[in-house]
Amino acid sequence: MSANSSRLQAIHSITNRQPVEVSKPDHLGKIWAEDVFSLARMEWALSKSAFKAVKNTVQTGATLDSATADIVAAAMKEWAVSKGVKFFSHIFYPMTNITAEKHDGFIVTNPDGSAITEFTGSLLIKGEPDGSSFPNGSLRMTNAARGYTAWDPTSPAYIMQTDNGATLMIPSVFMSWTGEALDKKIPLLRSNAAMNKAGMKVISLMGETDIAPLNSSCGAEQEYFLVDANLASLRPDLLLAGRTLFGAPPAKGQQFDDHYFGAIPARVQVFMQDYEDQLYKLGIPAKTHHNEVAPGQFEIAPYFEAANVAADHQQLMMTLMKATAKKHGFLCLLHEKPFAGVNGSGKHVNWSVGNPTQGNLLDPGNTPHENLLFLLFCGAVIRGVHLHGPLLRAVIASASNDHRLGANEAPPAILSVYLGDQLEKVFMDIKEGNLMSSATGGDMDLGLSQILKFDRDPGDRNRTSPFAFTGNRFEFRAVGSSQSVSGPLVAMNTMLADSLNWIAEKLESAFAKGSSETEAVIGTLKELMELHGNVVFGGDGYASEWHKMAVEERGLKNIPTTADALPALREESVKTLFETTGVLSAVELESRFEVYAEQYVLSIEVEAKLVIDMAKTMIYPAAINYLSLLCETSSGSAAMGVDLDNSTAKTVAEHANAMLTATKQLGAALDKDEFDSVEEHMQFCAADIRSLMDEVREHADALETEVADELWPLPKYQEMLFIR
Ligand code: ADP
Ligand code: MG
Repeated sequence: MSANSSRLQAIHSITNRQPVEVSKPDHLGKIWAEDVFSLARMEWALSKSAFKAVKNTVQTGATLDSATADIVAAAMKEWAVSKGVKFFSHIFYPMTNITAEKHDGFIVTNPDGSAITEFTGSLLIKGEPDGSSFPNGSLRMTNAARGYTAWDPTSPAYIMQTDNGATLMIPSVFMSWTGEALDKKIPLLRSNAAMNKAGMKVISLMGETDIAPLNSSCGAEQEYFLVDANLASLRPDLLLAGRTLFGAPPAKGQQFDDHYFGAIPARVQVFMQDYEDQLYKLGIPAKTHHNEVAPGQFEIAPYFEAANVAADHQQLMMTLMKATAKKHGFLCLLHEKPFAGVNGSGKHVNWSVGNPTQGNLLDPGNTPHENLLFLLFCGAVIRGVHLHGPLLRAVIASASNDHRLGANEAPPAILSVYLGDQLEKVFMDIKEGNLMSSATGGDMDLGLSQILKFDRDPGDRNRTSPFAFTGNRFEFRAVGSSQSVSGPLVAMNTMLADSLNWIAEKLESAFAKGSSETEAVIGTLKELMELHGNVVFGGDGYASEWHKMAVEERGLKNIPTTADALPALREESVKTLFETTGVLSAVELESRFEVYAEQYVLSIEVEAKLVIDMAKTMIYPAAINYLSLLCETSSGSAAMGVDLDNSTAKTVAEHANAMLTATKQLGAALDKDEFDSVEEHMQFCAADIRSLMDEVREHADALETEVADELWPLPKYQEMLFIR
């Protein structure tokens, strides 16, 4: 290889690298949840009555009295200190996709100079970081500058081990002085409560009397890339933007389909084992891992958990994944599209709702009654996606996910529901009245027997659908790999709550008219399907015919960019949805719109600045160097009477000039700062800034294929994707 010296040096270090030494893994039983202050640990450490109070709080969300909080705090501190912990931190989830923490010591000094450790119930329950430093949108009033964190006892505290010591982490909510949600946890807890309330109503209308609280579950499959750190450190774009802003396509990409489920490279195996051992200690049930479609791309999926815990665990997984990758000499990329022309990364959010008494309500049952309940919950999802498709699109909108959605590798930017052939037929039969007609013939059971025979495993998976039923859950496949799962879970829980309320009303009035259970359910679902059946689609979501049909015949929306998607959060229907379910007030919703819109604009601006910087200081100099070499050689040859082919020199000059021109235009576009609204600013970023960035890139990538390899300053795609 003739690469420039820094690239050669990087490649040399990689090829001579040995896997990092990690200690031999202990058996699972020994390390499982070793660093978690779990319910089991509390049962052991607390008095019977204190444990009963905590357990009640964990299971029902009831507030913990201050006396019990003191007891729990003391036990938690004692356990943590015995494990070498000196600091504690409320960890919270601001409206960005990352976590925030403020560490405090347990230490208290006495007048005599001695020190003791102290941790009270009030310290456990409440923290006070500075609220004004976190994004809070329109909630940025002076009196809201103070923000509070409060312990969420439904998500267990744990010890975070780092090279510098250990810290007790307390999962918390984050709110303003005036009580508004400033985070991603509060709406998730509220959406779960709304879903629970509406779900219980429906279940009780269906004649059940023993009904435990409902909870939503989430199992998120996380895709990611690993690039060797030696190469990554030569790419400012990977370091600052998490994706390559330049890079010509390599001769070999993923066309052989030889990476998916292929043998995992040794160095990656060691990383995975190290990473998963840490997850096990934290009580995170890592279950599957494998190579993904693209070279250098992998996936990890934990076993599903209660949505609130799963969301906290998911954030922790992303943090730990990056830190552990670093230890193993990798840069872990969670960006949705790190490499153009190569598959991007998503996060499939598997979601269901259930309780201990009725079980998973999205799992078909064994009796007609169970199946009617299942069909009601499933129907509620169909209605929700149809009514709130634009909301679902908005909660997965980000500058980075825009590169993936709508491209032919990821679900389209049109929200539809895939049910699988069997279930789709059941719902279509209901819509067409086929089940009703058998009912009028006095043959209702016969009609239902086809639901009874419903096969749990839909077998064929439709990978082109953004929202697919997969046997006992729905899989929201359009979520981005770098995103918090909270937004999608909040939207799903809330739309479900709203639909279940609608269903409850319909059932109530049918029962009031004397309908039987089956008549009431089938009648309700028939109406639901007539209104919302258009959202059900079992075909190829990537096909252009579908995109046309979805919009023109089905009335669904195709929402290509974040600039188009986020304004949904300002729609009356979305405001009403969140207000009536008590999940977000109008002010809270508006503040979210503002924060997300700002983040979108900022991330595109950062990338654009980086494009200008790299084009001018790295790519242009390389091109000019090469050009001067060619020109010198050409004139030298001419002096000897030999005519060289000057076409390369001309091509290089043309692209270098064009790149510079586009760079200047991009700079001028970035200077524009007068916009009538944030919507207009977002549209400007999506259209003008993005296309100028593409134009700079087009010429830069063309230069990469012309300029001598030994002069090219940036590691190339084949190096980043294939050397590890
Ligand atoms: P696939 O790649 O075939 O979609 P995986 O095994 O990679 O399947 O991931 C499936 C995910 O769905 C796992 O996290 C799993 O725990 C989760 N899951 C399974 N059942 C449920 C459920 N009822 N609710 C939520 N998530 C579930
Ligand atoms: Mg999957």
